[in-house]
Amino acid sequence: MRIVEIKESVVSIASEIKNAYIDFSKMTVSIVAVVTDVVREGKPITGYGFHSNGRYAQSGLLNERFIPRLREAEPDSLRDDERENLDPFKIWNTLMQNEKPGGHGERSVAVGVIDMAIWDAVAKIEEKPLYKLLAERFTDQKARKETFVYAAGGYYYPGKDNEALVQEMRTYLEQGYKVVKMKIGGAPLAKDMKRIEAVLKELEAFTERGESAGRRLAVDANGRFDLATARAYAREIEPLNLFWYEEAGDPLDYALQAELTGEYKPPFATGENLFSHQDVANLLRYGGLRPEKDYLQMDPALSYGLVEYLRMLEVLKQHGWSPSRCIPHGGHQFALHIAAGLGLGGNESYPGVFQPFGGFADHTPVHDSLIHLTDLPGVGFEAKSDLIDLFYENFG
Ligand code: MG
Repeated sequence: MRIVEIKESVVSIASEIKNAYIDFSKMTVSIVAVVTDVVREGKPITGYGFHSNGRYAQSGLLNERFIPRLREAEPDSLRDDERENLDPFKIWNTLMQNEKPGGHGERSVAVGVIDMAIWDAVAKIEEKPLYKLLAERFTDQKARKETFVYAAGGYYYPGKDNEALVQEMRTYLEQGYKVVKMKIGGAPLAKDMKRIEAVLKELEAFTERGESAGRRLAVDANGRFDLATARAYAREIEPLNLFWYEEAGDPLDYALQAELTGEYKPPFATGENLFSHQDVANLLRYGGLRPEKDYLQMDPALSYGLVEYLRMLEVLKQHGWSPSRCIPHGGHQFALHIAAGLGLGGNESYPGVFQPFGGFADHTPVHDSLIHLTDLPGVGFEAKSDLIDLFYENFG
């Protein structure tokens, strides 16, 4: 049982969309394939990994530090003591040899790419979908096959007016999503309020009796605002009772978050730009967030992978938070399996952007904002044809 090869490549996901902070005109993603010596149906079991949109490809770190460490490791040092399998925790420790505490940033993205591929391989070797493996190993609950997803979009785009925005949101609602998300902060407040009002008007047609349209809309400022601007938006949107108000200020400005949390009653969401369990501990200590209503969006594909995500869930437990308050960023199948297997509150979904990395298995329609997972072994990339084709094109 050993890793025989690790391949790495870079692909473009460039597009014209923008959020409040960045455009995606030069956006790239690192992909890896971890080939094992376990052969099934004449082919070696291979795990695949990538990272979420919004961070650039990590070739330098992967090729200079992390892939060589795995290549140089004694194969026995990466094996599971209890099972005929690789051990993702030992592999993580090997990757992180000679890395000082702190300094997370890009490093956490590079390690996350490899960690995803390792878990994909481990679940394939065990012949289980990842969500089932996770429920069995790490919870005392049965895996849920169905998970809440919301449709994230509403980006700024050259020439995109409110009618085009509404049209986009309508598409998501027609696809079976009950909650949609749009960007804010890329236009002045008054203009953004017009965008929000236009979407809410459309959402009204899809709400059930007695339900407010605001409960079906989340807004995301991508960390753009200073405290005064974040407050100004909070005052305007509070009466709308939105599903959540995401990343109002800088992701590491816990004091700003705490100020806002004290002033705004509906839910907040944040955490997609946290990279370690220490960051999560600090957010929970100092961000003033409310375990009964706010949401945490740490993304395992950007923050050292699932091994670290399990530590984050431990931090949550210590602070009295349920895993059901977590709805990871990223819209990828890896986080979807983690959500289903570990009892998270759901997962982001990008029905229209960041393809082929965004989105889940083919032929898994969304009903009432719930999606079924496939039962293919691993993360199920083989059931997402555009993504698996890309892996085959790059890695053979
Ligand atoms: Mg966001």
